[in-house]
Amino acid sequence: MLKIIFLADMESFYASVEIVHNPSLQGKPVVVCGDPKRRHGIILAASKKAKAFGVKTGMPAWECKSLCPEAVFVRPHMQRYIDVSIKITKIFEQFTDRVVPYSIDEQFLDMTGCEKLFGTNPRGMAMKLNQQVLQETGIRCRVGIGENPLQAKMACDRFAKANPEGIFQLSHDNYTCYTWPLPIRDLFGVGSRMEHNLQRIGIKKIGDLARMPKGILKRRWGINGEILWLNSQGIDYSNIYAKSTEVQKGVGHSMTLPRDYGQKREIEVVLLELTEEVCRRARALNKMGKVVSLYCRGTSFNQPTGFSRQKKLPEPTAVTMDVYAIVHKLFDTYWDRRPVRKLGVSLSGLFDDSYMQLSLFEDREKKTSLSHAVDNIRTRYGVTSLFRASSLTSGGQLFEWATEIGGHKK
Ligand SMILES: [Mg+2]
Repeated sequence: MLKIIFLADMESFYASVEIVHNPSLQGKPVVVCGDPKRRHGIILAASKKAKAFGVKTGMPAWECKSLCPEAVFVRPHMQRYIDVSIKITKIFEQFTDRVVPYSIDEQFLDMTGCEKLFGTNPRGMAMKLNQQVLQETGIRCRVGIGENPLQAKMACDRFAKANPEGIFQLSHDNYTCYTWPLPIRDLFGVGSRMEHNLQRIGIKKIGDLARMPKGILKRRWGINGEILWLNSQGIDYSNIYAKSTEVQKGVGHSMTLPRDYGQKREIEVVLLELTEEVCRRARALNKMGKVVSLYCRGTSFNQPTGFSRQKKLPEPTAVTMDVYAIVHKLFDTYWDRRPVRKLGVSLSGLFDDSYMQLSLFEDREKKTSLSHAVDNIRTRYGVTSLFRASSLTSGGQLFEWATEIGGHKK
């Protein structure tokens, strides 16, 4: 059976969240910009109005000011964005139980078999989805529809974002006619270096690549060349749902790193931060988990390097350092020493924390109530009010989350 995959993307996500939070910003060129002292003031998001002046994500603040002197600068509030992102996931889960967050403002939905439920075709379902997100969050959502995640992503980025309705559908039938005339840089997976390489051998459009014999690309660029060729045909063998159905049953958190991490010490810091976040969320739900999973992806999106492993605990817990001990052990055992691009930690096999096996050897109740006290302080004063010293080291992402880029690439 053909699948129906949606990629739902939030328009100018951080800027939109800020405008909803402070309606006096409505209609103004709003830019969300990090601390100038820490990252030279890079634009993290720009409202539609600001984009009309040519302001782009990733641009330095000074350039933004010269393009658009009346831009309103807002400091980022990462926790706010995470909260809205989770709220949006919950809305999507009313449409399908197969929702896979891809970044903080993009999520895949597997809508296969849902037409009867909604009594309409994929476009109709996408319209309902957009309407509901707008109603409940005030943020505009765009949906790319495809028969696999690649087609959905291409449909969203290349077409849905540019049309007023915010919906576009690609399929095996129309993929060629819509995407082949596009410049090669528009193909998913082609970065600026690859664009340059491809142009050097005369490949200017996606169709040029599609018409090349796959073998030549494979010989030249190995598995990456082959995957790009498949992308140009609209073929995608990746299986992103399988990994996530497990995560759905528990509490999970993952992040794409702002750069590739090759050093163990740096990776460990992020693992601890992720574990802390997962445990905090489990505790907020009054849950403890018995199964700890670690997901680690290598530096190429398409290339299946990395691993996903889990380990069962003798007793359920939501105490950060108990869970981290397992995460650390899994990482130590399975990491292949190659640079890492994305990490995820989850806690599943959940129990209500009213159930607590009393242990003779450690004061579990005390540890759990200490964790809750820390959570309360953070809820009230922000995630950076109380943190582990390791977050200040070079790998730490906590401050980036809290104030800067979150799941986005710089
Ligand atoms: Mg977006």
